[in-house]
Amino acid sequence: MSIDWTALGEEAVDLLRRYLMIDTTNPPGNEADGATFLAAVLERGGIASEIVESKPGRANLMARLTGDGSLPGIVLHHHIDVVYADRRYWTVDPFGGVIRDGYLYGRGAIDMKSTGIMHLAALLAIKRARVRLKRDLVLLATADEEAGSLYGAQFIADQRRDWLAGAEYAISELGGIEAHAGFKAPLGHIVISEKTGLPLALTAKSAPGHGSMPWPDTAPNRLIRALNRLLAAERPLRVLPEVQEYFARLASVLPEDQGAGYDDLQKSLADAAFRARFLTNRLHAAMVRTTFAVTMLKGSEKSNVIPPEASATIDCRMLAGDDPQEIVGWIRRVIDDDRVEVTITGEAKVPNLSPADTELYKALADTLRRRAPGAVVAPEILVAFTDNWVFRRCGLHGYGWSPFIMDEGEWHRVHGNDERLSLENIRAGARAYVEMLLDVAGA
Ligand SMILES: [Zn+2]
Repeated sequence: MSIDWTALGEEAVDLLRRYLMIDTTNPPGNEADGATFLAAVLERGGIASEIVESKPGRANLMARLTGDGSLPGIVLHHHIDVVYADRRYWTVDPFGGVIRDGYLYGRGAIDMKSTGIMHLAALLAIKRARVRLKRDLVLLATADEEAGSLYGAQFIADQRRDWLAGAEYAISELGGIEAHAGFKAPLGHIVISEKTGLPLALTAKSAPGHGSMPWPDTAPNRLIRALNRLLAAERPLRVLPEVQEYFARLASVLPEDQGAGYDDLQKSLADAAFRARFLTNRLHAAMVRTTFAVTMLKGSEKSNVIPPEASATIDCRMLAGDDPQEIVGWIRRVIDDDRVEVTITGEAKVPNLSPADTELYKALADTLRRRAPGAVVAPEILVAFTDNWVFRRCGLHGYGWSPFIMDEGEWHRVHGNDERLSLENIRAGARAYVEMLLDVAGA
């Protein structure tokens, strides 16, 4: 078996450039355009694929390289859709496929067309090299991840479970290697779980009236008081064992003083000064608590009418072990107003988790250490949501992983402006991806 790594790297850059030029902003998604592109590239490489639309234009694609069946398969999944890019704040066309100063720019360069191209390039390389496989490799491209997965991962789980047949693992987005200037060593992340959403609404009711004669108890006033109480209250902080392990590993790469107290976070958080300092980091704060973000507010339709009803949408994110009914009861007690209703407005997704000691997890960790020698690898519970939650519910061990090395500045471009990925990451990432797959699935 021989693979020309230089050629593979250039192929990955070219494929990603072309993939980024397809506008799959969700809404509306238009994932069909992305799926058609992937299918054409696969076909030229001699790999058959199947496209199914969950709704016109909302396409999902599956391609399978078959192994000898001696071990269960691996699903490599990515979402075709991307979030909106506000052109006013970009220095390049977000769908122009621009390469500048060693970086490829475009919406989806990190989240997550790049990972999709790693999967695509790996399948093409393995097929060309005629490698015998112990495991099936299933490439899955999904719609709608950025807007709730209903027409993508959830559709596949409900309607096309056969696409996952014979698989035990799933690999998808995020993870990767954080290399900050101040770190003593790079920190590798492997996502094993994510916090999940509990959609909530607070609705206050009272009599309507004229804006010229307000009184203390109007619906908007009650709502504002209830929200104030909710935001001022604090649920007990909870350090999950996996989160403790993450912070212990993080401490080992931080400059001496910065990681103090991370070896026993639950205990350290009992100290008021430590706690106040720790919670100023939004990401770290979200890792140890159930969060309540007020995201939408609704009152009157007219400026001079006091409405009979005012409501707030709360984006609540749960930690493993949270109970939706207990959270609702806690909010009712905290706001202490029986004329403000607390309701769960959608599906309460209960968090799920994949173990950090599987054969695949070990191969992912080894690959990160090869890619960034000296890297410390930590399991991560993501504070945001991904399709892996859906596929874990289908019985797969799902991990978020990428072979990309990035510093903080690059990460901030995700869902932001001038999203980009270095050509070095694309080239070396493609090789790392293939080597990882040969590690776990090569015969
Ligand atoms: Zn994503």
